[in-house]
Parts: sequence; structure tokens; C-alpha cells
Amino acid sequence: MTSSARPFLNRRLAEFGTTIFAEMSALAVRTGAINLGQGFPDTDGPEEIREAAVRALRDGLGNQYPPGPGIPELRTAVAAHQQRRYGLSYDPDTEVLVTAGATEAIAAALLALLEPGDEVIALEPYYDSYAACIAMAGGTRVPVTLRPHDGAFRLDLDELRAAVTDRTRLLLVNTPHNPTGTVLTREELTAIAELAVERDLLVVTDEVYEHLVFDAAEHLPLAGFPGMRERTVTIGSAGKTFSFTGWKVGWITAPPGLVTAVRSAKQFLTYVSAGPFQYAVAEALSLPDSYFDALRADLLAKRDLLASGLAEAGFEVFRPAGTYFVTTDIRPLGESDGFAFCRALPERAGVVAIPNAVFYDHREAGAPFVRFAFCKRTEVLEEAVRRLKSLPV
Ligand code: PMP
Ligand code: GLN
Repeated sequence: MTSSARPFLNRRLAEFGTTIFAEMSALAVRTGAINLGQGFPDTDGPEEIREAAVRALRDGLGNQYPPGPGIPELRTAVAAHQQRRYGLSYDPDTEVLVTAGATEAIAAALLALLEPGDEVIALEPYYDSYAACIAMAGGTRVPVTLRPHDGAFRLDLDELRAAVTDRTRLLLVNTPHNPTGTVLTREELTAIAELAVERDLLVVTDEVYEHLVFDAAEHLPLAGFPGMRERTVTIGSAGKTFSFTGWKVGWITAPPGLVTAVRSAKQFLTYVSAGPFQYAVAEALSLPDSYFDALRADLLAKRDLLASGLAEAGFEVFRPAGTYFVTTDIRPLGESDGFAFCRALPERAGVVAIPNAVFYDHREAGAPFVRFAFCKRTEVLEEAVRRLKSLPV
């Protein structure tokens, strides 16, 4: 946030300056450092899907306002994807809504579903837009902290249970989880589902990294657990799955009442967006399994390259089970303040990373953790590792 804007910003948003992603990407541009901060791939998605977008533009598909809920082709493709991957049935006409990326889906869901004063439980560290959207909706965020345990950040189910009060309206879940790379297990998701049913809570689950899971980890949609379908808004996005983060095509799947509620907010945010891209994403969702397998295999190799390189450079590494981020602990390097470390890193080593503390209310709990993105070309990651190894241990 520039100092000149601060006097004008309302109290709800006063604590949220410029997003860390914009700040760090600007730092990368300014210093010429390798940008492993903001999570965007440095190669575009499939050629045939780009061609599909070009074709849609040329054929005049989506150049004018598309339908409010999204074009039928994309809604049908989203429903078919949920059915094929997870055995979940959604009616494309009443249970799918296309949004301007997952970002708008999160905003519209929270603006639609929260009353001022409602409490929202979110897994901390949480993706930055959650906090801002809860604030815009007048809600109160209640973080439940994921803590390092056996090489991964895990949810304490007793802590989650204890966080629910009579004012809790909604659980905001994210799996695979940004920034930690944790993929919630069947046991954890079962416990979350039981709690939601017992306390009659709504659930918004951000599953934008659903296809980016590694090793033995499996992405299980929360909506598939007993009692969850009717209370769950599931969020997906083409940005991560197809490497088109600039297209901003996302979606929700939910029962008709929840879709109608979210659409009520969404129609006054963007109304509609990304007309021609919706046609292309409809095709992308129908790509064969080999596409998704190749994406995962490519990212797995990159995860291992970066995770091993960071370990050799002296970081403690939390090897992620999902997403395209590696969280590290900088304390073995004699550092303890992730903010200061990330601000200095471009000068010191020519690399940009994200301080996880920005994703915490309990800033001290996140202070020593730093996130690196590995959705970059192999040679870029190799060069980044070479540079990071120059840091004194
Ligand atoms: N949720 C999470 C967890 C994310 O990491 C991101 C960033 N890609 C988003 C939502 C936003 O997704 P989109 O770019 O589709 O708006
Ligand atoms: N989701 C991306 C990340 O976590 C960033 C998206 C953004 O810049 N808002 O890096």
C-alpha cells in the first residue's frame, strides 16, 4: 500500500496493504532476481487449448457477455470432471457457477454467505485473499494453525474442534494447501466433515491444486464425505490445472441453494468474465488422463530438484505432498525473520521467495518459514539452486 492511499482505505481493509505477491514480483523485476515468489508457471499451458481460445475469439464465441452462470459447455465440462475424477454428480444448470478465477469464487462465497460478525475458521497459514474477503464481508477470522510435525504441517483436530463457537458460520478449507503443500488425509477430512455436520456449519473448500499431488498423496474432495454435499461450496480453477493463470477462469460446484446465493454476490462483482477462454477451458477439462499425469510427473521432478537443492543449501525443507510450493525453515541458516530474509534475498542471492508470515495472524508462528515456487523451467530452478547454495550456512 502506498502511503498516499492509506488515509482513504476503510477500516475493514486497512490491515491489507499491497499483496505480498505483487510486492515480491515487483522486487524480482526491479532486481532481475529469479522469481520463485508468486506462484505462476513460466511456460504456458497446452498449445491445443491456446488454439481453442484463438478459435473462440475468431468465431465470435464469448466476445460479448457470456451467460451469468457461465457458458453451458464449461458448466457441463466442470460437472463431467467432478463425476469422472471423484464420482460426484452436479447438475450443470443449477449446481455449477463459473467465476473470474478462484479469487472471485472465494470473494463471492464469503460475501454471499456471511452475516457481519459471523466467525470463519481458516487453516493458518491461509491464502491471503481469505483474510481480506472475510474482512470485506464483515466476518471475523478464526485461524487454526497447522504445525510442523514429522516433516509436514499438520492440522490439530482438537484445536479445530475447540475453535468452533456459537458464532461460527463457516469452515474455509484449502487442500492441497498453499503455502505448506500439505494434502489433508482421509482421517483429517473425515473429522472436518463430522465437525461440520455436528455443528451445522457451511464449508467452502478451495481445491485449486487438486491435480497437483505427489507420491502417495491423494486429493479427496471434501464434498464427497458423508453429510457434506449439501453444505459444501467447492472451488476449482483453470489457472493451476492448465497453466493459464492469466485467463482467470474458475468455478464452484455446490447444491442449487448455495450456487444461487453465491451467484447473487458474483453478479455484482464481475457479472461475467473471460468469454472466449471459457470455451477453451471447457475443452481443457476434457483432456485425457495423460495430460494430468504428465503435469504431475513434470512438477514432481521439479519439486525434487528444488527441495533437494534447498536442503543442500542449508534450509530445512518440508517436502510438499501437493501444490507447487516448498515451505522451508530458515533457522538452520542462522536466520529467524522470514520477512527480512526475503527482502534481502534478491541482493544476497538473486532469488525471490515469499515470507510465510504474511499468511498468519500469529505472525511469530510463521516467522521462520519461507516459500519457494517450483512451477518454473528446470534450468531456472537449477540456476536458483546454484545461487542459493552461495548463502553462508
Ligand atoms: N486459492 C489458492 C489457494 C491459491 O493459491 C490461488 C492462487 N492461484 C487462488 C485461490 C486464486 O486462484 P485464481 O488465480 O484462479 O483466482
Ligand atoms: N496463488 C498465487 C500464489 O500463492 C498468487 C496469486 C496472486 O498473485 N494473487 O503465489
